[in-house]
Amino acid sequence: MARTGLFWFTNDLRLHDNPALQRAVASVDSLVCVYVLESRSVSPSSYSAPTMGQPRYQFLRQSLLELQRDLQKLGQKLFVVQGSAASILPSLVRAVEATDVFRSRHAGWYENRDWDYTRTKCADCAFHTIDSHTLFDLDALPFDLAELPATFTRFRKQIESATPSAPIMPLSYLPPPARFRSAVQLPTLRLLGSVDVAASQFQGGEAAALAQLESYFSADLPANYKQVRNALAGWDNSTKFSPWLANGNLSVRELVSRLRRFEQEVTHNDSTYWIYFELLWREFFQWHAHQHGVRLFSVQGVKRISPVTSFYPERYQKWIAGNTPYSLVNACMRELSATGYLSNRGRQIVASCFVNELGIDWRYGAAYFEQVLLDYDVASNWGNWQYLAGVGADVQPKRHFNLEKQAATFDPDGAYIARWQGNQNLLPLDSVDAADWPV
Ligand SMILES: Cc1cc2nc3c(=O)[nH]c(=O)nc-3n(C[C@H](O)[C@H](O)[C@H](O)COP(=O)(O)OP(=O)(O)OC[C@H]3O[C@@H](n4cnc5c(N)ncnc54)[C@H](O)[C@@H]3O)c2cc1C
Repeated sequence: MARTGLFWFTNDLRLHDNPALQRAVASVDSLVCVYVLESRSVSPSSYSAPTMGQPRYQFLRQSLLELQRDLQKLGQKLFVVQGSAASILPSLVRAVEATDVFRSRHAGWYENRDWDYTRTKCADCAFHTIDSHTLFDLDALPFDLAELPATFTRFRKQIESATPSAPIMPLSYLPPPARFRSAVQLPTLRLLGSVDVAASQFQGGEAAALAQLESYFSADLPANYKQVRNALAGWDNSTKFSPWLANGNLSVRELVSRLRRFEQEVTHNDSTYWIYFELLWREFFQWHAHQHGVRLFSVQGVKRISPVTSFYPERYQKWIAGNTPYSLVNACMRELSATGYLSNRGRQIVASCFVNELGIDWRYGAAYFEQVLLDYDVASNWGNWQYLAGVGADVQPKRHFNLEKQAATFDPDGAYIARWQGNQNLLPLDSVDAADWPV
């Protein structure tokens, strides 16, 4: 019997080292490829703003347009559809009479819910989940997921000596497009309209991802990473791979393979080790998210403790706009909203301020990051926020950064604060006191 496949693209928008797509290619005679842009990502609801801001949408749009072109070169087609995966996937399965459905394993709670729902609606189909977003396959981890170490250090010690999966060859063949046996309404998204956002150093898509990989490793930068990685600014001070990793334009296995080549051909030192160390943080948060599911978004976190916290709309707005009394925090927040990127140090500083000085429920900070970060990744974002807020994968209580000390250490001459005008509009946190009297 001829087999027909449906491939659901999510955060694996590439042809190089895509084991999930490879599995589909090896298993079916014809294929339909789809990407679903969830409506909640781009349309405001009565309760919330869209979860994806315009700069992230722009990056995604560039990635999808390129993937569409690359698939076309191999005789395939990518349907980019706006709506809900839970209703679109079952309709597509029926319309092409799919025998098999494929996807990369995803840490997102909604994505997994929609996948499970589709399975229940298409009981005659075979469903395949393949690891494309992580260094290791689930079944290659040296422990069961339920036994995942609760902290990064314990995780690292157990996994560091294991070898991650090697990348596979880029695909040069795809099965032809599946025939539609019945009509289906696909709310196709027009990706071609331009988006009005400032020009960015980050360009979505596999070509730009691989160009950054080559550019970073063909200079001396990896040999000095550890000394400069904490800098607040500077393109070359960290790898800048995160937006491409988050969208899957870049495979983390391909990245590690390039790192190993650099270590063989150029040098193997503390800095090259440290790049791998950071990628293990990413790996840890991925499996941590898989393990904890919906707990990743709960105020008590995975530790199940209730932080003393509230929501102060005025403080929240001032944090977002960069109008708090803390110039370093303001500079970071302005960089974030202008570029969609912030250094790891900057993220830690503004998150600590949010939780400690502002006393706001950490989930609002995480939700804002989700909206604006180009490199938004469900596992890394919510995992790091929980960690900072003291409800996550950390034996310590919440982390509190001394803002003056951070400024003195990481911006001693004030150049970063001046660059982002962090000293402008330093406003008190509250304009009224607890009894609503003007302060
Ligand atoms: C509150 C907060 C929220 C964050 N949200 C995200 C997010 O949504 N998406 C995201 O990719 N990273 C997130 N990070 C982690 C980190 O800040 C970024 O990965 C990093 O700044 C990206 O820049 P880079 O690629 O130059 O990193 P590099 O310093 O060059 O690190 C190399 C890679 O290692 C990984 N990495 C480094 N640090 C971490 C970390 N702490 N956690 C997980 N992975 C890490 C990333 O994939 C990164 O690309 C967050 C950190 C904090 C404190």
